[in-house]
Amino acid sequence: GRDTIWKAHAAPLGVPAGRGVLVSLEDTTAMLEAGQMRRDFVANVSHELRTPLTALSGFIETLRGAARDDAVARERFLEIMEREAARMNRLVADLLSLSRVESEERIRPTEAIDLGGLLHSVVNTFSELATEAGVTIETEGTDPGLMVTGDPDQMRQVFTNLVENAIKYGGTGKVIGVSVIQKERDPALRGPALRVDVWDRGEGIDPLHVPRLTERFYRVDSHRSRALGGTGLGLAIVKHIISRHRGRLRVDSTPGEGTTFSVILPRA
Ligand code: ADP
Repeated sequence: GRDTIWKAHAAPLGVPAGRGVLVSLEDTTAMLEAGQMRRDFVANVSHELRTPLTALSGFIETLRGAARDDAVARERFLEIMEREAARMNRLVADLLSLSRVESEERIRPTEAIDLGGLLHSVVNTFSELATEAGVTIETEGTDPGLMVTGDPDQMRQVFTNLVENAIKYGGTGKVIGVSVIQKERDPALRGPALRVDVWDRGEGIDPLHVPRLTERFYRVDSHRSRALGGTGLGLAIVKHIISRHRGRLRVDSTPGEGTTFSVILPRA
């Protein structure tokens, strides 16, 4: 193919009569792409860590010098330093989550999880943040006894990330929601399934960005994500966890109307 990268191997043939050479061609596109992705990832992580580190070094310098005897400035700078340290903490925590999910990708999680109960508990943890942001959270169909098989901590992380995003990016619509829909049969999962919709009525996402949302460090608006304390890893983690649970993720978004992230999981 046009975009295929071939690696040629040549070896002398041990044929008694002739002096043949065996040439074989190996498609190394995937291998090279994986190498490139790893390099990009390391470059991204370094950049993301360097930004708060630069800020911290700068403020330490300022505290030693100009702001030394200015109590008000000192307090303000310490606050910023605290925020930057928290950002680094979140980044490292997300990197660890991602690496853990990836290393477990082939191991099937086995615990029985009451999905309705889990969703209620996730929504409860956000009640304060939602009130502060002036957002109401609606729930529908989150009945007890809807079971899935999985890793409870990872399942919690999926919905924590999605609800947090709905408040952060879709909160302008003032209402967000979590709905569970029971499906007799999901064609892709080939069996009974539960679909959890996490929806918002925010500004939506341009279709151009939708296919790339689950890429590591991909953000529609980097400045905004950073200002809101985002690491750019939330949806990458979500995607990996869902894939580990044999589920799938769907994104439906209409600019100006809102966004729905649907998590479809095999029913236990
Ligand atoms: P971040 O840490 O930046 O929030 P995520 O991986 O969770 O990283 O999300 C990636 C990007 O997807 C966000 O930066 C944001 O631009 C976009 N996004 C996620 N959820 C929503 C949503 N509900 N509405 C609009 N945009 C969203």
